[in-house]
Formats: sequence, structure tokens, C-alpha cells
Amino acid sequence: MVFTQGCPHRCPGCHNPGTHDPEGGYERSTDELIADFEKNFDENPLLDGVTISGGEPMIYARELLPFARAVKESGLNLWIYTGYTIEELCAREDADEIALLEAADALVDGRFVLELRTLGVRFIGSSNQRIIEKPGLYIHTIANSDREE
Ligand code: SF4
Repeated sequence: MVFTQGCPHRCPGCHNPGTHDPEGGYERSTDELIADFEKNFDENPLLDGVTISGGEPMIYARELLPFARAVKESGLNLWIYTGYTIEELCAREDADEIALLEAADALVDGRFVLELRTLGVRFIGSSNQRIIEKPGLYIHTIANSDREE
């Protein structure tokens, strides 16, 4: 699990408010993240995936991209949590964010909404959030349908 520091969404009731301040946490370079991952991968044969959460990982898409690719090249699953919806990410048209989505096996999207909090569904905190498999394919489908309208 990798937690990024800094979140612009500030959802009331957030489960992880310690990640909001972009000045908090501690710095790790992309190379250090990859080295940590490779060490864990070598030492733990049961490791089958990596999750990137936050905070808001998308604000570090450029820095996370080589790490995400290293995870995928090792044959593991990659999940990413974001407070943005995938439609918002599509509208941002940020090449690094889109490349990060293309590397991911699953995206959990959307802000946490306290009024919609759910305890009954695995992996999500509120019912507006979605688990989107292969978000890279999904984002290109959205982009193509926007062009056709
Ligand atoms: S997007 Fe996630 S980390 Fe950010 S405030 Fe909302 S629940 Fe907390």
C-alpha cells in the first residue's frame, strides 16, 4: 500500500484526514518507491498486488507512473483510489494521469460522501464510489463518446 500526501477534496468524514496537508508526510523519490517495492516483492511470495491511495494520488501522476509500470512489469495487480470521478479525470486531459489509469487494473473513484456512507460493500466507503476495472479502456470509451456527440 502506498499513501500519497495531500488531498484537495477535503471530504467531510474522511477516513484519512492526516493525508490532507500537502506539507505533511515525508518525501520518497520514485526510485526509492520502486526499490521498496522490489524488496517487498522479493521477500514476500504472497504479494499479489499494490494499492495506491491517499490523499489524492492523481496529483502525483507523473511521479507515480514509473512505479506503476514497475508493479505491472512484475505481474502484480495495481489498484488506485482517487477522489476524482473518472469523468473528471477524462475532462482534465492530463497525459500522465491517463497513462497512470492505463497502467491500473482497477480504479476506485469519487469523493467520500458522508451521507452515502456504506459499510456493506468491500473496497468503497460511500455508495457513490465505483470500482472500475481497466480504467484505461473506460477513459478512452468516454473520450470517444464525447467526440461522437
Ligand atoms: S478524496 Fe479520499 S483522502 Fe481525499 S478527503 Fe476525500 S476521502 Fe479523504
